[in-house]
Amino acid sequence: LSKTVIVVGAGIAGSNAAVAAKRTDPEAEVILITQERLAAYSRCGIPLVIAREVNDFNNLITVTPQQFEWMEIDLLTKTKVTKIDPNKRTVTSIRNGSHQEELKYDSLILATGANSIIPPIRGVEKKGVYTVRTIEDGREICKAAETAEKAVIIGGGMIGLQIADAFLKRKLNVTIIELTSQVLRQILDEDMAEILHNRIRDVGINLISEVNVESILGDAEVKAVSVKGKQIAADIVILSIGAHANTELAVKAGAQKGSTEAIKVNERMETTVKGIYAAGDCVECKHLVTRLPILSQLGSIAFRQGKVAGINAVGGEASFPGTLSSAVSRFFGLEVGFTGLTEWQAKEVGIQPIAGFASGKSKAEYYPGSRDIECKLLFEPKQLRIIGGQIIGDEDVAQRINLIALAISKQATAFDLINLDNCYAPSLANALEPIASAAEIALKTRKA
Ligand SMILES: Cc1cc2nc3c(=O)[nH]c(=O)nc-3n(C[C@H](O)[C@H](O)[C@H](O)COP(=O)(O)OP(=O)(O)OC[C@H]3O[C@@H](n4cnc5c(N)ncnc54)[C@H](O)[C@@H]3O)c2cc1C
Repeated sequence: LSKTVIVVGAGIAGSNAAVAAKRTDPEAEVILITQERLAAYSRCGIPLVIAREVNDFNNLITVTPQQFEWMEIDLLTKTKVTKIDPNKRTVTSIRNGSHQEELKYDSLILATGANSIIPPIRGVEKKGVYTVRTIEDGREICKAAETAEKAVIIGGGMIGLQIADAFLKRKLNVTIIELTSQVLRQILDEDMAEILHNRIRDVGINLISEVNVESILGDAEVKAVSVKGKQIAADIVILSIGAHANTELAVKAGAQKGSTEAIKVNERMETTVKGIYAAGDCVECKHLVTRLPILSQLGSIAFRQGKVAGINAVGGEASFPGTLSSAVSRFFGLEVGFTGLTEWQAKEVGIQPIAGFASGKSKAEYYPGSRDIECKLLFEPKQLRIIGGQIIGDEDVAQRINLIALAISKQATAFDLINLDNCYAPSLANALEPIASAAEIALKTRKA
């Protein structure tokens, strides 16, 4: 007998879960619910529209309502799920703010995502202060950026830097305020972050680190940000200090949260409540090196987890073994990528890693347009198994990160990487591969 699957949240995880459920069991009734006006769009592309690299927010829609219709997936937009009864297997939803409905499910998938953290700073409610999560946020930021001249970004993580990059492209004067001593603390060690810091300074961004914002000043509209008693003028402020997993519904339904405060799931993406699955930014995952729970909140992970939840929800077999939090982005002309553990993360779990650092080239050095690639690899000290990689370069970073991620998950050693059977053509790739060089340097470091 075919099942009814309800998916709450139509972001990457939810929409992919709905599609996977329908593909696995075409007879299943699949209902995809979102409180947003739009479903299935790429949040990752919002900074690109702000930067005017992508023309229109509508281009970010990855599955249109017509495509859902063709797949016979029932899409309910502007519909908020307010209650789950796991015993009766029902959800209560409110459509368009008023129309209440009770729907029955056999399997329920929670893909409720995350909410931007609003820091408890005086003045965050002022006009001109934004978070970046939805297309609506993006539209408002674009509108404000039309007339703004000075922007302050609070938080130097991935999203903060992406927006800083976008504002720079719109010729705004940009200041980044970061609480720790470096940007991208979650994915770069200090030595690698320094490369990025130099570029940030070179492009004219004012980077202020190791400070807390005291308040946001202005009457109704933002005028400045106060840091260490100094005022930094701003007519637009972006809050980008992270996102809280949206666990409200799951907790109300009796699902357990894990140590990261996100929903606890097993490899099949099942929560602790029978018949209820969860996927994406609202869940915690297992780190493939440490085996500990982490909060990854990446689109790539949401996509894979959604598929696994969708397949299992209709009786199929799929699993999500864990993650290395592989991530890549481009800011200020530099590509920055990471996978596995940073040096400080390794030390935090009791591993004293051996590091290898190498500078390389993207093509033969003599070939016009050959670019720099800086690569740092980390190995555990006993067998020199690779546990992490960070790469910063002008080009070709993403696929190198993917290669390192595979090496980590297959427990490759520095010896394996030294013997990497890399390809070479002067116009495409250098004979000396920076990943192999970094492994060789790590080996020499250990012997020294
Ligand atoms: C600006 C930006 C840039 C990013 N760039 C990258 C990148 O380059 N690479 C990368 O890997 N990741 C990136 N990410 C992260 C990535 O976008 C997220 O990991 C991904 O969108 C998470 O998808 P999700 O489906 O889990 O959650 P979401 O996309 O947050 O979707 C959850 C949906 O559920 C809805 N919902 C919640 N509760 C209810 C309810 N009760 N009833 C109905 N609907 C509900 C929400 O409104 C939302 O629409 C970026 C994120 C942002 C914000």
